Amino acid sequence: MAGLFVFIGQPPNSQWVPDAIEQDEYGFIITRPNLETSVRGVFAAGDVRKGSTKQAASAAGEGAATAALMIREYMKTM
Ligand SMILES: Cc1cc2nc3c(=O)[nH]c(=O)nc-3n(C[C@H](O)[C@H](O)[C@H](O)COP(=O)(O)OP(=O)(O)OC[C@H]3O[C@@H](n4cnc5c(N)ncnc54)[C@H](O)[C@@H]3O)c2cc1C
Repeated sequence: MAGLFVFIGQPPNSQWVPDAIEQDEYGFIITRPNLETSVRGVFAAGDVRKGSTKQAASAAGEGAATAALMIREYMKTM
């Protein structure tokens, strides 16, 4: 039985993101290990982030755990 599985790709919807927030050539946002972007106090999580696994569970974990905790740590410095 012959078949074809087409994968269309998922370009990130990041055109609106300011240039100051560093992105790769495809528009994925570049983050540090703590998910902070090139702009201090701005964090990115999930599929839009360069290097993410593009899986629902890790996107939720990045947002709900890592980024949220790192934002809390950042706010302590303010
Ligand atoms: C066909 C398909 C099958 C998949 N199957 C699986 C699977 O089996 N298992 C798995 O783990 N993962 C699967 N995934 C991947 C999973 O869906 C993603 O990893 C996950 O949804 C990423 O979550 P996210 O919150 O980062 O992004 P998204 O779920 O894409 O959420 C981003 C949200 O931001 C909104 N948005 C975008 N731009 C703007 C804007 N300018 N202003 C306001 N809102 C905006 C969008 O409308 C969207 O609601 C699949 C994906 C696809 C497309």
